[in-house]
Amino acid sequence: MTTTQVVNPATEQVVTTLELVSAAETDAAIERAQRAGADWRAVAPGDRARLLRRFAEAVDANLEQLAQLEVANAGHTIGNARWEAGNVRDVLHFAAGIPERLLGNQIPVAGGVDITFHEPLGVVAVIVPWNFPMPIAAWGFGPALAAGNTVVLKPAELTPLTAIRLGELALEAGVPEGVFQVLPGKGSVVGQRFVTHPAVRKVVFTGSTEVGKEIMAGCARQVKRVTLELGGKSANIIFADADLERAAATAPYGVFDNAGQDCCARSRILVQRSVFDRFLELLEPAVRGVRVGDPAAESTEMGPLISAAHRARVASFVEPSTKVAFTGTQPDGPGFWYPPTVVLPDAPSDRVLTEEVFGPVVAVVPFEDEADAVRIANDTEYGLSGSIWTNDVGRALRVSRGVEAGNLSVNSHSSVRYWTPFGGFKQSGLGRELGPDAALAFTETKNVFIAT
Ligand code: NAD
Repeated sequence: MTTTQVVNPATEQVVTTLELVSAAETDAAIERAQRAGADWRAVAPGDRARLLRRFAEAVDANLEQLAQLEVANAGHTIGNARWEAGNVRDVLHFAAGIPERLLGNQIPVAGGVDITFHEPLGVVAVIVPWNFPMPIAAWGFGPALAAGNTVVLKPAELTPLTAIRLGELALEAGVPEGVFQVLPGKGSVVGQRFVTHPAVRKVVFTGSTEVGKEIMAGCARQVKRVTLELGGKSANIIFADADLERAAATAPYGVFDNAGQDCCARSRILVQRSVFDRFLELLEPAVRGVRVGDPAAESTEMGPLISAAHRARVASFVEPSTKVAFTGTQPDGPGFWYPPTVVLPDAPSDRVLTEEVFGPVVAVVPFEDEADAVRIANDTEYGLSGSIWTNDVGRALRVSRGVEAGNLSVNSHSSVRYWTPFGGFKQSGLGRELGPDAALAFTETKNVFIAT
């Protein structure tokens, strides 16, 4: 039996030791999910909705416990962790509206009646990364369960604790055995069985682009459905006519939230050349003012990185030759800390501009005009999110249409609402999660003609 130690990234102390699920146990769980599916899809829509509402209420009743678990396991700030647990609750409430609204069409035809059904897929597997363990899990399992599927979920090796608790809460809320199972284990073992086991009909993967490509290739062998939410290298574009004070004051939070371990991090700040120097002057105090420290403290704005190995990777982006404009602070002592860091790259080919850092390092580059801004923003294989700061509404709309990314915000850095669609262009992903069509990613459309 293989075990893993869960480590608190802010203290480097072991939180707990867990047994990892084996390939044989994964097969057994998938088969349980398959057997549970027949009854689950037959649960009356109103009853399935009620069970999901009860699950949401159980999450709400345990919100503080879930949040504290995430602080200890992932080093998330307590404020963020409470939002994340609340997001799971809200996604479940939203999903509870699905079973009674999974409407098909009645299409006019000659000689009969034609109707469509949205049938569940069967067993859906959700593979979750370590950066947002709770929300990313719920964006998959909420709508999947609502649409009548059963779910097996694998949390990341580093952050299994909240997912395990969510699995318990589902059972306590009355969700039947086998309908939602959490399997902490390795990607190469549990994750791989999700891809290769023929009873799994869809894989929802969030993680690195590299692993996502392997999953997609593996799923192709069985024409298995797949949703991919992958990396990002998003741009925060600041035009000279913008409210520069606000743009500068908020820019750190658009990239350093969750210590930059956010697929939507605006890790490239593009600033119109005429205000470039002024923007940097305003950005410096904002970056120095980010409160980095004990994630359990109410006032903390940024915690540690997830692991020592990840910190070494982040640090590799700031080489001795890199021009560092300024940095923020970091606490002394144990913990995988890295300070907010602002760099000025020499060339568009610099690694810090082309690769996802997934840490608190942001690159600032100048642009000349609107066309130049859109060209630089799109000069990446990714296309997940981005921000546009301008007071010209026409420009805001033109640039929003020009930037190749799935989630843009104007004069703000918000990307995610559970009732609006989320996902990436280009190598940032495939398919969409959340939003009004969330359930359709977990159903097959069936057309039935009845001769009259
Ligand atoms: P990762 O790709 O290393 O791992 C993600 C998950 O996949 C983990 O659960 C892991 O165990 C599993 N896995 C690894 N190898 C596997 C394999 N061969 N088969 C099946 N499963 C396997 O990513 P990570 O380091 O945990 O997360 C960071 C990445 O996630 C970043 O690139 C980030 O941008 C991305 N991300 C994207 C979004 C989005 O919505 N687009 C959201 C959050 C994170």
